[in-house]
Parts: sequence; C-alpha cells; structure tokens
Amino acid sequence: MAYEVIARKYRPQVFTDVVGQGHITDTLSRAIERDRVAHAYLFVGPRGTGKTTMARIFAKCLNCETGSTPQPCNTCERCKEITMGNSMDVLEIDGASNNGVEAVREIRENAKFGANNSRYKIYIIDEVHMLSIGAFNALLKTLEEPPPHVKFFFATTEPQKIPATIMSRCQRFDLRRILARDIAGRLRFICESEGVDASEDALMAIARGSQGGMRDAQSALDQLIAFRGKELSEEDVLSVFGLVSQRNLEALAEAVLTHDIPGLLDAIATFDQTGKDLERVLVDLLEHMRNVLIHAYSPKSDLLKELTDSQAAVVQAQAAKTDPARVSNLLETLLEAESRLKHSLSKRTLLETSLIRAARDAYHVTLDEVLQQIEALKEGLPALPDSESDEKKKS
Ligand SMILES: [Zn+2]
Repeated sequence: MAYEVIARKYRPQVFTDVVGQGHITDTLSRAIERDRVAHAYLFVGPRGTGKTTMARIFAKCLNCETGSTPQPCNTCERCKEITMGNSMDVLEIDGASNNGVEAVREIRENAKFGANNSRYKIYIIDEVHMLSIGAFNALLKTLEEPPPHVKFFFATTEPQKIPATIMSRCQRFDLRRILARDIAGRLRFICESEGVDASEDALMAIARGSQGGMRDAQSALDQLIAFRGKELSEEDVLSVFGLVSQRNLEALAEAVLTHDIPGLLDAIATFDQTGKDLERVLVDLLEHMRNVLIHAYSPKSDLLKELTDSQAAVVQAQAAKTDPARVSNLLETLLEAESRLKHSLSKRTLLETSLIRAARDAYHVTLDEVLQQIEALKEGLPALPDSESDEKKKS
C-alpha cells in the first residue's frame, strides 16, 4: 500500500475520535439528536486544531444513510464518499483561492438544486475570511434565505475579518488549542498502531513543540520516524526541533527563582552551544513561570490537571517557596524580553541580561513584603513608654 502521512491516516472519522474539543462535539451531537441543526456554522481556531476535520465529521453525521446521527456508520456509501473527499453533495471550497464574487455566485446557483443522493448539500468553506467584500455580499443573500437542504460550514483562523452580517447568521464554535498531554496521548495511540517505540518524554516533547496543534504534532512525528526509524527518544526530538528538555528548562527556572546567576549563565551557554532555539527557550520558560504564578495565586485551579505528574510536582515545589508578587514581577521582565528577542541580533546576550534581571526580580523584596513586615513589627512591638501620642491613643 502506498505510504500515507500520519495526519491523514489518523484523521478522526467520528466525533469521539476528536481530541480536546468536547465542548463542540457534545453540542453538535445534541443538536443532531434534537433535530435542531442550524443552516450555517463557523468554526474558529488556530491552525491545525481540527476545524475542517470537525466540519467533515459533522457533514458525515448529517448525510450518513443510517439517518442524521451523532455516530455516522463510516461504512455506507455516503460516509465513504465523505471520507475519501469525493462526495458530490459535500463540497469543500478553499476561500483563499476562490475568494471572488464569481465563485460565490456559482455556489448560489448550484445550491438551488437539491442534493444528488444525500440528505443535505453541504458547503465547507475553509479560510472563509479571505472572501472579498463582494463575495461576502453574495454569500449573505444565500444565508438570509437558505434553501432547506443546504448547510454551510465555515472555518477560519481570523474571525475578526468576517463581516458582522455574516457572523450573526452563523452558530460560532471556537476550537481550543489542545493540551500537550492530550496530544501526547493521541501520539501514543498512533505509535502503538504503527509499531513505533517512543518514550513518554519524547511524545511530550513533540506535543510541547507543536504548541497545541495536533496536525503539527503528527507531521513532526512523521518527520522523526523518517529520520530516526521506529525508536524515538526524547533526545532525538529535542535535537531535531532545537528544544530544551523539560528537566533543563525547570532547572533554568529554578536558577532564576533562587537568584543563581552562575547557574543560569551556564545553562544559557550550554543551550547556545548545542544549537537550541533561544527564542523557544524563553517562550517555554515564560509558560513554566506562568504555571508557577497561577499555582501560587490559585492552588485549586485546574492547571495541575493539564500538566504531566512530574511537571506538576515541580510547579508545586517552586510555587511553594516563592512569593507570587515576585514571580509576577519577573514574568513582566520576561515578557518584555520576549517582544525584543525576535528583533535582536545578539539573542544570547539579550537572554542573559533579561534572565539576570528576572533573577533579581525574584530576589528583591517587593514593596508589599516590606509593608507586611512593618505591619508585623508594629503588632509585635510594645508601645514606646516615652511617646505621649501613643499613650493617648491607648487610653
Ligand atoms: Zn454512514
């Protein structure tokens, strides 16, 4: 059989396969069960989070021969056509390359006729924000009086570019970035099916590198298998993507939090010499520090559930021994560095000076702490015997 890329081979075919978007799949399933499916849907989300996959599964739910159902059979002709992408009634249009009035007029003309052999005629328009104003106006006419057999599923990464008149006629669903541990879980399933032996750390590193995008994570896995074969270690992943290991990242955070300047300079030197992406180091450090801050201020939040057990343990330990106000200050220093690092010619120097400053933020007593100490001192101090005013207040 011809080689098929992982992202395609393991594309979810039913709602229950979709990872990390339960808030959407549940709502759509209920709409189908209650026969309350709207005419137009808008799926919004970062690239690679599964917008068109969601639209395709939804189309399958509506057109499956077993009846409109939240669990399409995947074996009937209609389901198979949609999976193969050659259904005559589920038309996928790329908004970026078909953005003119003509393209939308064609859809309008075409939509007047009933579906060929399915329940509904479904138009999936990807990157819908790319349509011209004229095209949106033409589309609006169809959306105002949609033929009963027609459904529109739009997908976009930039909802702010869609006219309000269109938006108001769609049900909007926002796809979330997928949690690293959920992505790693899906990658684990794929590796098992493909006979690939990958460590948990390796899969978490891929997930971290893909920043919440399942498609990027799966492409990365493909690339790694092509490069390294059927055994993947964390080191392989880190070297291919220029990432720093979670352990080294946490050690760097520890150095900043404990004002260990030689330690943090050594760490940056090693990262630089081993070709790590210093911008990524800072982004990952920011995320880690944010976790520490959130946990310090709000220990009961859901944050820890989103992390792996070992990550959660480090976040808890570091939050316990740091004042949240200090972490907040050092985060601001890091955020400022992040915006400057992109344009900096000497990334290493900027990273070094920024982290030294952040370490100082972690070390310096904050104004709040000074005030608290003064209060504490006041409480504990006996009234001064020779102070008249104090005596008066007491009596
Ligand atoms: Zn079916």
